[in-house]
Amino acid sequence: MSEVTYYKATEIAERSWMIEYAFTEREHVYCYLVEGRDCALVIDTMYGYGSLKAFIETLTDKPLKLINTHFHFDHICANGEFDAVWMHHLDIANYNDSRVPDPEEMLKKAREEAFPGLAEKMELSDMCVFRTIPVYPLYDGDLLDLGDRTIEVVCVGGHSAGSVAFIDEERRIAYTGDCCNGNTLLGFGNSLPVETYLKNLLHFKAHQKDFDTMYGGHQVLPPSVIDEAIELCARVLAGTDDKEERPGMFGRTSIYAAAHGDSPIARADGKLFNMCYNPERRFEEKEEARVINFKPVPMF
Ligand SMILES: [Zn+2]
Repeated sequence: MSEVTYYKATEIAERSWMIEYAFTEREHVYCYLVEGRDCALVIDTMYGYGSLKAFIETLTDKPLKLINTHFHFDHICANGEFDAVWMHHLDIANYNDSRVPDPEEMLKKAREEAFPGLAEKMELSDMCVFRTIPVYPLYDGDLLDLGDRTIEVVCVGGHSAGSVAFIDEERRIAYTGDCCNGNTLLGFGNSLPVETYLKNLLHFKAHQKDFDTMYGGHQVLPPSVIDEAIELCARVLAGTDDKEERPGMFGRTSIYAAAHGDSPIARADGKLFNMCYNPERRFEEKEEARVINFKPVPMF
C-alpha cells in the first residue's frame, strides 16, 4: 500500500458525509456515509481506488452496512471490501452478471487522472480486488433502521430497473445515485422505457416534500429537477422533445431529449435535468410470451 491519499470527506449534515476522490479533479463520482447509533450505512463504493473501507473507518467506528443505489460499476468496485451488500431486487441479476475492470486497468486509469506527482507513487496493491459477497434485496418502501435514524428506500427505476433513492427525511436529504440528474442515461440494454421511468418519477415526486437536496453519484441537485424530469419525459412520449444527436459512449450516437446548444454539458434553456434515451424504447411493451435465450443482457 502506498501513502497516496485517495479520498476526502465533507460533512453535509449531522453524521452524514459525502466522500469523493482526493487524488484527482477529473472524476466526479461520489459515495456517502450515514452514521446511526447501531451501524453506519455506506451508500455506493465508486471505483475502488485505494481502500474505501479504511478511509471510512477514520470517520466512524460503527459496524458498516453497504447499500448500492444501482449496479453500475462506477458505484460498486469497492463492494468486495464489505461483508455483504443490499440493493434493489431488480438490479441483483445484473449485478451478479457484471464484471468490473481488473486492478491493473484501474491503476492505469487512476494514474492517468491523478494530480501531477501522484501517479508514480500509486501501487497495484492500492486497487481494490472485486470479491463476490452476499447480495440481499431491497424493495420500494423498505425502511433501513440505524437505531436512532431511519432511511427509506424509494425505487426510481429507469437508468437501471432497480435504481433507487435513499431518503433521510430527518436530515431532508435524498441520496439519488444516477436516478435523476443532468445526464440521465436511459440507453442501456437494461434501462427501462421512458414511459415506465415517468411512472417511477411520479412516485418519486410523492416524496419530493421530504428533502431539500439530492446528493447523487455524480451531481448535487435541487428537488425541482424531478419536475423538470417529469416534464421532459412527457415531451419525449409526445414526440415533442429536441431529439438532439450527440456522440455517445463506445462510438454510438446518443439522442438527448433537451438540446445542449453550444455547451458540452448544460442545457441550452438553462434547465438542469437532461436524459438520453433509445427512441425505440419510449413506450412500455405489451406483455408477450417471453423467449429466454440464456444470453447476458447486452449493455446497449
Ligand atoms: Zn449508473
